[in-house]
Amino acid sequence: MKGREFLRDLHTVQRMYIDGEWAASSTGAIREVINPATGERIGLVAEGSVEDTIRAIQAARRAFDQDGWAESKARERAMMLLKIADLLEQRTEEFAWLDTLNNGKPLRESRYDMSDAVNQFRYYAGLATKPHGQTYDVPDQMQAMVVREPIGVVAQIIPWNYPLVMATQKIAPAIAAGCTVVIKPAEQTPLSLIRLFEIIDQVGFPPGVINLVLGAGETVGAEMARHPLVDKVAFTGGTETGIRIMKAAADTIKKVSLELGGKSPNIVFADADYETAVDYALFAIFANQGEVCSAGSRLLLEESLYDRFVPELVERAKQIVVGPGTDEETEMGPLISEEHMNRVLWYIEEGRREGATLLCGGRRLTENGLGRGFFVEPTIFTDTHPGMKIVQEEIFGPVLVIQTFKTEEEAVALANGTKYGLAGGIFTSDVAKAHRVIRKLRAGITWINTYHPTFNEAPWGGYKQSGIGRELGPYGLEEYLEVKQINVNLNVVPSGWFKKRSPVTS
Ligand code: NAD
Repeated sequence: MKGREFLRDLHTVQRMYIDGEWAASSTGAIREVINPATGERIGLVAEGSVEDTIRAIQAARRAFDQDGWAESKARERAMMLLKIADLLEQRTEEFAWLDTLNNGKPLRESRYDMSDAVNQFRYYAGLATKPHGQTYDVPDQMQAMVVREPIGVVAQIIPWNYPLVMATQKIAPAIAAGCTVVIKPAEQTPLSLIRLFEIIDQVGFPPGVINLVLGAGETVGAEMARHPLVDKVAFTGGTETGIRIMKAAADTIKKVSLELGGKSPNIVFADADYETAVDYALFAIFANQGEVCSAGSRLLLEESLYDRFVPELVERAKQIVVGPGTDEETEMGPLISEEHMNRVLWYIEEGRREGATLLCGGRRLTENGLGRGFFVEPTIFTDTHPGMKIVQEEIFGPVLVIQTFKTEEEAVALANGTKYGLAGGIFTSDVAKAHRVIRKLRAGITWINTYHPTFNEAPWGGYKQSGIGRELGPYGLEEYLEVKQINVNLNVVPSGWFKKRSPVTS
């Protein structure tokens, strides 16, 4: 850890940030944070309570309603976002290390995430000051116009697979829109977001504008989703949790945006560029240990390509270097926790039990010093059928299932054959076919002859049970804005709708 002085203070209890001040838990509770590569404790954080959460929500409400944030100027907010970007950019290596130690992902992936995070603040700083209204040509000497206004207090709930970047892609548009924020990281991965609040504190937002709460989903998260002073909940996480959040938000008709799970198809036709398709089939599922909502976890392969494609894919999967994310050579890190590793291993057993053929992997890795961490081999199943759990359910780990097809129609039917609709890719050298198939995919994020690249400029989100709403791009800002219609009378005379009559005398 030489030269990594920024890691030293993790064992003093990291606190929440409520109403412009660092805050311990009202109950004094503390949670241990674990390094999934070693199973060791790497930090201590305050475990927030419902009471802490309510305090944060009330501060955000006051900042919005009474302290003037709702009337703050877009230019002023943009300057603050740019300041965050600059300060974060100076510390990206530190933040990358924190996410790798805490989440397990290889450093090269964390570094990529950090550059995304910096860019998100810059992107939304730019968007904040662009025109957001419209005027309409209407009859009757009226002028109709639409203005956009911040939704108000937003609660943002974050998963563990991209600890910082999932948070920044919510904070940046919410602040650009003029909302106030209460945000909660996943219990497992709070470290980088806590550190981001050092920067937020430095930038000098008015108290209550951005608040950080820490703690369990069932207590702190549930209160955020339920509390009547919250106007909107933005959530990224599992579909089951999304359902609970939507129900909790329903009682007070909160706006919700949900970025949920997936079981995304990666369709490879026989006429695809072979090397590219093999390469991306690996990247689609094994990047970030398969802990990616949009992972290409189902490989849909044209049958005539099977005998050439699958042996090479398996060989390449076996060569993936699995190890601690902090080793620069590591290509795939550990899973987030022992509990999650056991869930993934359970699915692998279930796949075997259901009759699928295991082509490679399938085991926990314990050799070469990996025994205390939560490592699972890159795993590939074939001989699957659409009814199997491993085909239908999100495993959220390095497990690929192969399905085969003979025709374009069959490929589309298989691709759309789950409850999810987050993402999907297609590999072919036939441009017309690529477009035909992509247009039939019931998914929000799609790729032709590539898999995974996404950009802060373009919308991110799912069809079907993969979510509601979109993050990123101009759509991501819309999610934090209300739409107000203003009608102005240009001819200020009475309407005469009700006749003016002489007063009735008795
Ligand atoms: P999760 O649903 O278990 O937890 C996510 C967050 O929700 C955590 O902060 C957790 O504390 C909180 N939470 C849990 N129960 C809650 C409740 N009852 N009320 C309020 N909050 C609650 O998800 P996870 O395991 O952290 O993340 C993995 C899931 O996230 C996968 O399903 C993955 O597909 C999904 N994901 C989706 C996207 C996307 O953009 N669509 C991106 C990343 C991850």
